[in-house]
Amino acid sequence: MMNARIYTLILTAMVMAGLPALQVTAQPGADMDRFIDGLMQQMTIEEKIGQLNLVTAGEVTTGSVVSTGVEAKIKEGKIGGIFSMTTPKRIRAAQELAVNQSRLKIPLIFGLDVIHGYKTIFPIPLGLAATWDMSLIEETARISAVEAAADGLNWTFSPMVDISRDARWGRISEGSGEDTYLTSRIAEAMVHGYQGNDLAADNTLMACVKHFALYGAAEAGRDYNATDMSLHRMYNEYLPPYKAAIDAGAGSVMTSFNDINGVPATANKWLMTDVLRDQWGFGGFVVTDYTAVNELVDHGLGDLQEVSARSLQAGIDMDMVGEGFLTTLKKSLDAGRVSEADIDRACRRVLEAKYKLGLFDDPFRYCDESRAEAAILHPAHLAKAREAAGKSFVLLKNDERVLPLKKSGTVALIGPLANTGSNMPGTWSVSADLEHTPSLLEGMRAVLGNRVNIIHHHGSNLLEDADYQERATMFGRTIPRDDRPEAEILAEAVAAAQQADVIVAALGESSEMSGESSSRTDIGIPAIQQRLLAELLKTGKPVVLVLFTGRPLTLTWEHEQVPAILNAWFGGTETGKAMADVLFGDVNPSGKLPATFPRHVGQLPLYYSHKNTGRPLADGQWFQKFRSNYLDVPNEPLYPFGYGLSYTTFAYGDVTLSSDSLQSTGSLEVSVAVRNAGDYAGEEVVQLYIRDVVGSVTRPVKELKGFRKIRLAPGESERVTFKLTVDDLKFYNAHLDFVAEPGEFVVFVGTNSRDTQEARFVLAD
Ligand code: BGC
Repeated sequence: MMNARIYTLILTAMVMAGLPALQVTAQPGADMDRFIDGLMQQMTIEEKIGQLNLVTAGEVTTGSVVSTGVEAKIKEGKIGGIFSMTTPKRIRAAQELAVNQSRLKIPLIFGLDVIHGYKTIFPIPLGLAATWDMSLIEETARISAVEAAADGLNWTFSPMVDISRDARWGRISEGSGEDTYLTSRIAEAMVHGYQGNDLAADNTLMACVKHFALYGAAEAGRDYNATDMSLHRMYNEYLPPYKAAIDAGAGSVMTSFNDINGVPATANKWLMTDVLRDQWGFGGFVVTDYTAVNELVDHGLGDLQEVSARSLQAGIDMDMVGEGFLTTLKKSLDAGRVSEADIDRACRRVLEAKYKLGLFDDPFRYCDESRAEAAILHPAHLAKAREAAGKSFVLLKNDERVLPLKKSGTVALIGPLANTGSNMPGTWSVSADLEHTPSLLEGMRAVLGNRVNIIHHHGSNLLEDADYQERATMFGRTIPRDDRPEAEILAEAVAAAQQADVIVAALGESSEMSGESSSRTDIGIPAIQQRLLAELLKTGKPVVLVLFTGRPLTLTWEHEQVPAILNAWFGGTETGKAMADVLFGDVNPSGKLPATFPRHVGQLPLYYSHKNTGRPLADGQWFQKFRSNYLDVPNEPLYPFGYGLSYTTFAYGDVTLSSDSLQSTGSLEVSVAVRNAGDYAGEEVVQLYIRDVVGSVTRPVKELKGFRKIRLAPGESERVTFKLTVDDLKFYNAHLDFVAEPGEFVVFVGTNSRDTQEARFVLAD
């Protein structure tokens, strides 16, 4: 590899001769350092600041400000990267401006929110988490990268690993739910899927773990709201998934919008430098969220110049859309408010990312127009999307084996979510082809042909309030309104349902009722749809509720009234087909909830790994005076974390331990035999939790520490063995030391976080 001095000389000569940028083979390490040293020696301060500027091309709307003058700024070296621009053609044109017309010919990085698929859309992340299938999740990220990279992109704003225990928060849909361990494993799988083994390969994307940090703990579940959290809770419960993504090699990190104990993340030096860089050794670059620097003004940290300086010094490298860095850092440098070293540090990290992506080697490596057509929506990708959707569905209830349905007779498919293709991809599927995504009705008809007669009526509007419905169906996810009287719409559906053998009610949220800026205080199925459901139940026909939702909902009434409930989340491009697979028994549901479903919104935040309190309620009790509970609602959730039924049943044998003590350097085996005791082949997620009985600080009543997804034929058994080591028992103590404390532990094994068997062991001194 050529050294920096020679590169610099050649670069200078090229710049003077107006030649295209030099071809350099890119491998991180000393060569990269020399290369970037040489490049930075050529850069003016304005050009360095330019690298810190990320603009949007505005092809998709993900914020309220739009970048302007992009073309001119690229030529002037005032832009380091662009997001929300797609296709090799458009990206090549922008890249050509950078590498042919800017003075130093530095290539741009191109990003997009590829959150759960690019064109082939997989289930929303909360749904993917419900598969508990790490290799499947990794494959979905791999396919997303293959499609997006074929369409010109090299950077994705994913994985989103914000733990959330408050279903009011709309963005719970975008993450993996409430659990630290599960979310951490998913974070690793996604980073590996996106980045593969070689960031510079033309079919990989650089990952961006977000939103750092604690975004999912927004007070009252209201988006962008403050968080105030003990360090102890942060380190043990909320920070590990970000760290897991970083340890897996994520190349970039995105800041969160929220205030953290008085200092918003985007200006939080402790978080961005002490934790991220010094404690965790993160070597990639940090980008802000959309206009997050500017928003520090409203947070009350000063004017744009001050907050830009403060963010830079906190450790931020790239400023998304707001141009606070672009317009004020030079002034701050001249005023001595920031140093050139601060700017250099950020510039270097951005250039390093481009180097790792191979962009200095070939700025057009992601711009091959022939690849896009072959890769995007490839049949193998669609098959994987159908598999992933089927595995994400969670069977919440199935009394008297209403499901699976027979592939004959007449099904009445009723509900405002039954025939809306644009809602199937779910929130944060910004590149989905909404026009060509089959609806539930279309997907089911495609699979079932004329074996099953499907009759359809919407039966009600999505929401009674037209304004609310408009807010809930943005970004092309329109659900047409029916302005006839409610009773008339309903009667039509009921009359049709009466002709059917079984009713499938497709109800719940539209896709934009969750996601960004989509918090809700009432997290039930909208009342107008409940009224429809009540009338459908009155027909006396068997009713299956197919539930669309981006968050845990309160379903207490539905659980009491409806014999079968199948939670579909939003399953992506192939939702309709996958639903036919599951409803009619070709696929046996195996999804397990990655977030607790409460009985009542007033229980929130509700999560299984809570602390015990000094006045815990006795097991199986509801109200006890002077105990920790509510007068009006039990403490228990409706459906616990890890819960999900199958068409078959799994019988668990006794849990056995290889020893009743664990030595500090040894390991302990926990095993259980699981038998498929029913008539259908099926998959089961065997879950292992622990409790540290006595600690120097209080410990959760249960913590997930392992899971295994197994497939069993009817009658088949398998012994599932988990190996526990001292590392599994470690936590951050009051001094934030990561330790395991000798003493008694309970280990729980079971089919969900509630229904477990237990055994005990001692961690020796
Ligand atoms: C969201 C981020 C997203 C960014 C860019 C913001 O509004 O919070 O998650 O990556 O926009 O689209």
